[in-house]
Amino acid sequence: QTSVHQIQSGQVIVDLNSVVKELVENSLDAGSTSIEVRFRNHGLDAIEVIDNGTGIAPEDFESVALKHHTSKLRNYDDLENLDTFGFRGEALASLCALSQLYIITAREMDRPRGTRLEFEVSGKLKDTTTVAAQRGTKVVVEKIFHNLPVRKKELEKNIKREYGKVLTLLQAYACISTGVRFTVFGSKSLRDLVALDLKFEMQPTTSTLSTHDDNTSRGVKVEGHISKPVVGEGRSAPDRQMFYVNSRPCGLPQVAKAFNDVYKTFNISQSPFVFANLIMDTNSYDVNVSPDKRTILLHDQGVLLESLKETLVELFESQEQ
Ligand code: ADP
Ligand code: MG
Repeated sequence: QTSVHQIQSGQVIVDLNSVVKELVENSLDAGSTSIEVRFRNHGLDAIEVIDNGTGIAPEDFESVALKHHTSKLRNYDDLENLDTFGFRGEALASLCALSQLYIITAREMDRPRGTRLEFEVSGKLKDTTTVAAQRGTKVVVEKIFHNLPVRKKELEKNIKREYGKVLTLLQAYACISTGVRFTVFGSKSLRDLVALDLKFEMQPTTSTLSTHDDNTSRGVKVEGHISKPVVGEGRSAPDRQMFYVNSRPCGLPQVAKAFNDVYKTFNISQSPFVFANLIMDTNSYDVNVSPDKRTILLHDQGVLLESLKETLVELFESQEQ
């Protein structure tokens, strides 16, 4: 029989994506610089999120998975200065109702000892045991939706697609969370970094077409992030490519194509998630070629694209080792 708690939980945790989203956001809220996500059987058997954040304080053990418990709002004022993802205190409570969940957590001051926490379906703390642990928190969600058979069947049916969506989501977090290292252990094998930092300077292009006076066209700097090729999984996502020239958002279809082409040479069918700012001399492009000013004409585009491709290939190859 399905309880009210389970039904409400099913509205917080609707699919694989929401499990991963909630757990990763908790890890980010805990100030982690390393987040590892592991999937057993694409997440159907288990999803594990392991971080190196602050850990959970012993005084919170009893309440951590109770509905509406959160450590993130200490007083009412905080609602206005919220800099955490979570504040509702619903995720862990819901996961207790829909899966078999346990937590291993250790704070810096308690190392090398940590605590394994087990919960009842209601979120009430059932048992604690002392275990060896590194600083941080590991949340393990086993048998998601085991007590909602219809939803479980639906998930099993679409698991490849759902798993692809999860990888996309992780790439999005990895791209925006500078200073946090994301690692994914997937169904096939180890996937290391989901995102690579883009930070390189390309050789100055010797411009013959240069319209401006000084012919010493400077190099183009590229800064941003790109998702690492994930072989055979994920989805095509041209909508997840953002380009900027000197921090001005703009459409750069040819540059986008260069990124996608490099991915193809690595036999990756999906497009990468790209967030790239091209920093270059203001003389080396025209902005006003279209009424919306979002399309930019690059003077040395051919040379730029070639050296961009070369640099990206080197970047990926250096990651392969
Ligand atoms: P919320 O994030 O809205 O506070 P959750 O149910 O997601 O609610 O989490 C409940 C509480 O559990 C958090 O407020 C936090 O104190 C603790 N917690 C959960 N995950 C972690 C984690 N990875 N590291 C440290 N504390 C955590
Ligand atoms: Mg949360």
